[in-house]
Amino acid sequence: MSVAEITQNTKKTLFSFEILPPLKGKGLESIYNTINPLMEFNPQFITITSHREVYDANNNRVRRRPGTVAVAAVVAQKYSIPVVPHILCGGFSRKETEYVLIDLNFLGITDIFALRGDSIKHGEPYKAEPDGNTYARDLLLQINDMNKGKYLDDENFGASLATNFSCGVAGYPEKHYAAADLDTDIAHLKAKVDAGAQYIITQMFFENAHYFNFVEKCRAQGITVPIVPGIKPIGFKNQVDVLPRLFHLELPQDLQNALRNCETDEAAKQVGTEWAIMQSKELVAHNVPLLHLYTYSSAQQCVDILKASF
Ligand code: FAD
Repeated sequence: MSVAEITQNTKKTLFSFEILPPLKGKGLESIYNTINPLMEFNPQFITITSHREVYDANNNRVRRRPGTVAVAAVVAQKYSIPVVPHILCGGFSRKETEYVLIDLNFLGITDIFALRGDSIKHGEPYKAEPDGNTYARDLLLQINDMNKGKYLDDENFGASLATNFSCGVAGYPEKHYAAADLDTDIAHLKAKVDAGAQYIITQMFFENAHYFNFVEKCRAQGITVPIVPGIKPIGFKNQVDVLPRLFHLELPQDLQNALRNCETDEAAKQVGTEWAIMQSKELVAHNVPLLHLYTYSSAQQCVDILKASF
């Protein structure tokens, strides 16, 4: 079953999660350590992030976490679970994207999470590669072409080489930082759905009202696909400042206060777990299709959240 079908057919709330490829030079152990304890909760699929080049302290361009395709292949085989590699526009030409998609097709991986990605320097405006896709919607159109057997360089192989990809896309309950307002952002999201995206996974949020409001506005604008909430358990004290800065979101005042009162990361982790449990319980009570947990290597927190929420 494709991930699109899974998200569309849930009768009660199920569970999925996101992992990051290991830092360059590290092995897969950290991935297994994250996945193993979560398998008993019957995850429906695992998404795998993708990381473009960034500038290091010496102004060199480095890719710190390559390996999305390889990790997806290993995880799919080892755990027999649908995997969803994230594919970015940013940093990649359309040709390079086509090669990645061809690799995925060889590997039998047909679920893709289509994203624009961000600027190579945090805070700078995003710029597409001269021969790359500009928006996630453009990537979806490239994938649609391949699903019809239409490759770049005017190569049209027709049905014999048509791929069978199905895609999810990102949504932002507190709006994407570059969008003028939430309605405009949702109009762009609708364009992604009209271009074939079959489900949406949201950016993390810490106030469920943002998610409920977002879903309502999406439905009002004619978006009918499943909208899966993304939940991030806070694991460090400094995330009270880091998360709003990096992800352009607000932490509720109560959560901020509780985190600022913590003396250690261990205490902050406890606050983060309890907050995520509170959010998750309410989302499950509202029968959302799945809870999608951002693990960031904190599997134990996710275990605690799942035990308490279902
Ligand atoms: P898009 O949908 O292309 O939108 C980007 C911006 O452009 C929005 O402001 C939108 O409103 C606007 N826009 C869209 N179309 C148009 C148009 N035609 N004209 C004008 N404006 C338009 N980043 C990574 O680098 N790696 C990851 O693995 C990763 N995983 C993510 C997973 C999830 C669930 C989420 C929510 C985000 C993830 N991101 C990841 C972050 C994402 O790449 C950034 O938020 C990025 O800035 C936007 O990507 P997008 O696909 O939402 O962009």
